[in-house]
Amino acid sequence: MSETFFRSTTQVTDSRATSMIRAARAASGALVNLVLPPVCRLCNDPVNDGEDFCRSCELALCHSRPTMRHRCPRCAMPRPSLGSPEAADCGHCREEAWIFDRIAALWAYRDRVCEAVVAAKYPHHAALGDALGRRLAAVVVEECSDRMPDAVTFVPSYLTRRMSRGGTGTSVIASAVARQIGRPCQALLRANRPIAKQAWLDDDERKRNVQGAFSAKRRYAFSRSPEPRNRHILVVDDVLTTGATANEVAGVLLGTGVNRVSLAVVARAIRSR
Ligand SMILES: [Zn+2]
Ligand SMILES: [Zn+2]
Repeated sequence: MSETFFRSTTQVTDSRATSMIRAARAASGALVNLVLPPVCRLCNDPVNDGEDFCRSCELALCHSRPTMRHRCPRCAMPRPSLGSPEAADCGHCREEAWIFDRIAALWAYRDRVCEAVVAAKYPHHAALGDALGRRLAAVVVEECSDRMPDAVTFVPSYLTRRMSRGGTGTSVIASAVARQIGRPCQALLRANRPIAKQAWLDDDERKRNVQGAFSAKRRYAFSRSPEPRNRHILVVDDVLTTGATANEVAGVLLGTGVNRVSLAVVARAIRSR
């Protein structure tokens, strides 16, 4: 039996098996929907098949989306009006010495978005984290159209916090982003110590709070690429406040030899200076 025939026979068998698995999944999905009708991933109200959120949650979550479409690509703060996309024009980040490339941000951190972000930190809300990740992926595709990331990673939590929550919510969001954009999701970073909540601190304290708090988890993960020094890594986090954490993890990744780090966050905290 020739190798070509064997390969083509295997492919036919594989495609038949794939079709059967798809059919079984579709059937089981219909059965599950019959027994457990789909519900909003945030408030548990009934939704139509295939919808993540009820109309009320969808409107509340996406309320800031038009504003966030016109944001500074460097700090993700919304611009007051349509204008030049040059970061130099942004009063919020003009003086920041950030080393990451850009930030893709989905929503402003307020109202129901805060509820969604907090809920998605817990493993029993993994379906919500997955939905947030899929929404965020669409923004990543827009933001990184010139060069898509080669791999996706996430800002890790310290062990004790992971244990108290039962997991790392950002990893679920990052996995969904990676799946949507067709790139691997790799746990590249480690939290070296507990980190106080950034929201409680002023700008200088935030920088000190995250200084040295992260390190590269698996250096060998970088060397798997044929061009380890020419990789673009996307770091996923749930909320961006000042950019101190983003800058710190970007520094760790750039220190391993990658040449470009971008950020993707579900929500951007908006504050006036
Ligand atoms: Zn809802
Ligand atoms: Zn800016």
